[in-house]
Amino acid sequence: MARRVRQRAAVGALGKDLTRRSRGRCELCAAREDVRAFELPPFPEEPSLDRALHACGRCRRWLEGEEIAPLEARFLGEAVWSDVPPVRLAAARLLLRAGFDDDPWLVDALEAADVDPATGELRAPVAEEP
Ligand SMILES: [Zn+2]
Repeated sequence: MARRVRQRAAVGALGKDLTRRSRGRCELCAAREDVRAFELPPFPEEPSLDRALHACGRCRRWLEGEEIAPLEARFLGEAVWSDVPPVRLAAARLLLRAGFDDDPWLVDALEAADVDPATGELRAPVAEEP
């Protein structure tokens, strides 16, 4: 069972940049209603665009642990291919939780998203040169 992690107020500081990136839409399902910044746990020390996304009320509730309705969740199959790492990570986590694990395409999707199904985290990037 995933621990429910409270969002912190500081995430509001990302609002402007997130709006620019998302054009005011939910970055998972493209809804325009009730879109807010959402940080993916574990949080970095300071809110970071690399660990946050814009999400609508439904997607935020899912990310917080509410049961996912598989029929409503088909858009996750597209979001997992996003260019934006935190969007890929959020979509992959939801797909893993939604019980799509029997679908062979999920393995490919997680591979494309660089998400390790065992940890539910993005795979560590290749070490940078000093
Ligand atoms: Zn959404």
